[in-house]
Amino acid sequence: MAKLIDGKKISQEIKDELKEKVVALKAEGKTGALAVIQVGEDPASSVYVRNKKNACAYIGIESLAYELPESTTEEELLKLIEELNEKEKVRGILVQLPLPSHICEDKVIQAISPEKDVDGFHPQSVGAMTIGEKSFLSCTPSGIIQLLKRSGVEIEGKHCVVIGRSNIVGKPMALLMLRENATVTIAHSRTKNLPELCKQADILIVAIGKPRFIGAEYVKEGAVVIDVGIHRDENNKLCGDVKFDEVEPIASAITPVPGGVGPMTIAMLMSNCVQSIEEKRR
Ligand code: NAD
Repeated sequence: MAKLIDGKKISQEIKDELKEKVVALKAEGKTGALAVIQVGEDPASSVYVRNKKNACAYIGIESLAYELPESTTEEELLKLIEELNEKEKVRGILVQLPLPSHICEDKVIQAISPEKDVDGFHPQSVGAMTIGEKSFLSCTPSGIIQLLKRSGVEIEGKHCVVIGRSNIVGKPMALLMLRENATVTIAHSRTKNLPELCKQADILIVAIGKPRFIGAEYVKEGAVVIDVGIHRDENNKLCGDVKFDEVEPIASAITPVPGGVGPMTIAMLMSNCVQSIEEKRR
């Protein structure tokens, strides 16, 4: 039976540590706000935005909500970002993705000042991470590093297979595991012999975006399995990219869905906000 890697508990620990840090920073006169921008009323995005605002309230930092109509033009959004870049009080700017199709996401991400890029998506943040310089780290992958470390999983020298090469999860995940001295293989939709490859992994990180795709035939006995996927199945029940019931008996440790990777993303966003407040020049 695998050890359950409890993202709910670990994310709570991180938020409590941040809450204390925010008190200490306030005592030094360092404060700041997170600006959260949502364009349109996508219900899933509204839930994410609400959770982010609640997390800010919990750790004691201000959040500024910008709820813009679906009809907002790219120009209007870019103008708002420019204003927020200039606002001293704003230490983090987050634009909830996806954006309506008439707005270019890359343009919007690149408009955010790298100093306030708490999602870690700006090319400058990604570049700095790649060469090992200090930057805001992409929240889901850095949350997974925290999950592994705080669960006592050794990373150094281990073979890690990351399935998925998206800019948001797969690629930064592989880079962060490399930074932790794992030997990393990236698998993707064109990879051949996926089950055989995955079976070589000591740590298997699955960000494939397909419900219950990874079964027992992909997993080595005793491997650590991290499931990044979030889906609703035909019964409206949350599930991941991994067939949990099949894989759990083989793995030595595994993240559940929900309650695994999901809660970590917001905790790491909060961590980036606190880092930004901390680094604010006076
Ligand atoms: P994506 O669709 O952008 O990328 C999926 C990747 O999987 C691609 O790089 C593709 O090459 C690879 N892939 C697809 N089919 C494959 C196959 N048959 N074999 C091998 N590789 C294959 O998705 P994403 O944005 O990286 O997200 C992945 C999953 O993680 C989604 O389910 C998403 O909802 C979830 N997610 C969760 C969080 C969180 O906070 N927990 C955050 C981001 C994404």
